[in-house]
This record gives sequence, C-alpha cells and structure tokens, in this order.
Amino acid sequence: MNTGIGIAALAPQHIRAIAPYPPGKPITALAREMGLPVDSIVKLASNENPLGMSPKALAATQAALGGLSRYPDQYELIQALAERHGLDMVQIALGNGSNDLLDCVARVFLGPGRSAVFSRHAFAVYPLATQATGAECIEVAARAGDYGHDLEAMLLAIRPDTRIVWIANPNNPTGTFLSHAQLRVFLEALPPHVVAVLDEAYNEYLPPALASEGATLSWLSEFPNLLITRTFSKVYGLAGLRIGYGMASAEIIDLMNRVRQPFNVNNLALVAARAALDDHLFLAESFELNQRGLEQIVAGLKRLGLGHIPAHGNFVAFHVADAAGVNQRLLKQGVIVRPLANYAMPDHLRVTIGLERENTRFLEVLEKSL
Ligand SMILES: *Cc1c(COP(=O)(O)O)cnc(C)c1O
Repeated sequence: MNTGIGIAALAPQHIRAIAPYPPGKPITALAREMGLPVDSIVKLASNENPLGMSPKALAATQAALGGLSRYPDQYELIQALAERHGLDMVQIALGNGSNDLLDCVARVFLGPGRSAVFSRHAFAVYPLATQATGAECIEVAARAGDYGHDLEAMLLAIRPDTRIVWIANPNNPTGTFLSHAQLRVFLEALPPHVVAVLDEAYNEYLPPALASEGATLSWLSEFPNLLITRTFSKVYGLAGLRIGYGMASAEIIDLMNRVRQPFNVNNLALVAARAALDDHLFLAESFELNQRGLEQIVAGLKRLGLGHIPAHGNFVAFHVADAAGVNQRLLKQGVIVRPLANYAMPDHLRVTIGLERENTRFLEVLEKSL
C-alpha cells in the first residue's frame, strides 16, 4: 500500500525550497474569520482599482459570454497593443496576468546551473519564478536608507551564469522609482548575456512627468535583451480576469511563445482588455482618484507621525512599530492591508489607495490601532 509518506521527497529540492506566495487576504476570508459582514470590510491589500473595472470592459465581457465554447484568438488585442505602442505584432506576447509572462521568460532563459539577479524588497514573484526553474537567486541589498533597487550593485552581482535581472519600476511593495536616466545607464552597462525584465505594472499611475510612455518602449529597438511587462490588473481594473502583456525583441517573444500555454489568455480577458485600452475616461478618473487618495493617505500618515516611503504607484508602504500587532487590530476592525514581513520589512505595512471613504476609514481605524 502506498501511504503517501515521502511524496514530497520525489519533488526536486529547488521546488521543495519554495515558500508559496502569500496573497492579500480576501474579503470573504476575513468575513468568515471575524464574523464580519462582507460589505463592512475595506480591502486595501492587493493594489486593485477601487473604481472596479472599466464600464466599457464590463459591457464587452457581458457581450462575449455567449462565445465561450470557442478557443480564444489573441490577434485583435495584440494588434491593438502593437498599434498603441508603435511595435510590430511579433514583439508582443500576452499572459494570464503579467505574472504568467514572468514565469515564461524564466522558463526560457533560466534553469539549473543558471542564476537571476533581483533587489531585496523587490516583487515576490521574481524569486518564485526563478526558483521554479531550478536557477539560483542572487538577491542584492537595496539602496541604503530608501529601499530602492541599487542598480550599480545589481550590475556587480551579475555572474557568467546569470541570464535574467528582474527590475520593477515602480517597485511593489516599496513604491520606489528609478529614473529613465538611471535605467538607461544600467541597460548600457548590462552584459549582453543577461536579459533585463523591466516590470512596469504601475506605469499608468506615474504622473506624466515621470511616465515612461515612449521612453522605455523606444529602447526595445536598441536592446534585444530587454523585456518590458505591463498588466491590465492595476489601473485597468481587470485583476480577476488575469491578463497582461510583454514587449521585447521578436527573438525573445518567439522564445516565450514556445513555452507559454497555447491558450493562456481566455476569451473574456481578451475582449475586456481590448475595450479597457480605449476607455480613456475611466483611465483618467482612476489616475485622478489615485493622485487625490495618495495625498489623503500621505497627509493622514504624517498626522499620525508615521514615516512612509515616497510612493509612485497606487499604494504606500509606511513605517509602524509593531506592524504585526497593528495589522491584527486593523483586521479585527475590518480593514485589510498588506503586512511586509515576507519582504524583509517587518516594520512596514502597505496600504492600497482606495476610494476617499475607504482611505478615511483606514486612517481612523489605524489611529485606534497604534
Ligand atoms: C501586481 C503586479 C504585477 C501584475 O500581476 P498580474 O499577474 O498582471 O496580475 C506584476 N508586477 C508587479 C510588481 C505587481 O505589483
């Protein structure tokens, strides 16, 4: 009889060593645990768009419900993205969330005997995607004092067996931002045997003065070893549909197309993303709401005497003594934020910018929880 004991030993050591991704606590989970009504809970834990999804995307999704017996066709969305960004269609790959593309590029370039470089406090998916291939993680200390990526130190950490360097800009969970000038210097110094993955999940939240529209994308023609990823999960409000995209040289996209699942993005996500792309009103409202909310939360944190890391996305990482205890008290009162102990930031919490009333509730409950 096979008792199942020892099954874990059948998995390679590099798989057994993985610590699973801890997601933001779902509203339904907190409601069950605390016996709170679902609609009394404020979730500011997963950088979701508090306005929901674009009405145009919702209408397109509803209209597509009758067509789900057919396999998806990615052509129209890739064409629209290529046109929007001035690229060839062969330079774009779609993913089941941009997370899917991070996994794809890791499977293309990494594996046992290879390594990937990333910053401490960088997005948690980079070590996960790296480890899943059997490659080695090289974590580089962040810039002293501000938690940002130390690009010079990351260059120095590159080894002959390194194939990917992961960069999030802005980074989650710190909210730190690298200027285009800094990134450009880095790319020029990057050895050609290394692919730079530039994760721009929060690009659309950058104020125009910092926004990379045109700038980082224009580098694709110069750097065949650059992959830029974006997502429909954040400002576009489609986190639950799972869709993102990657832009790179045709060579990189061709390789990624070999390892991705043939039908990795579903019909509803494709039509929703296509519609959301053109919903300029919704995007502008989302951007404005976020700017005002950032000001509201930052002012509130200052009033409470709490330091924060300057924010460049739709979230703020703030410093608080006894973050674990404060987090527990926030949860008891129905407010979900993100603890950052697993990011080696045990004295910080991360709060997503919500609607004005949600931000107000968060600040009130935070004050009582300190
Ligand atoms: C949210 C996020 C993503 C996007 O995840 P999806 O898989 O597209 O939902 C990617 N990178 C960073 C840094 C993020 O915070």
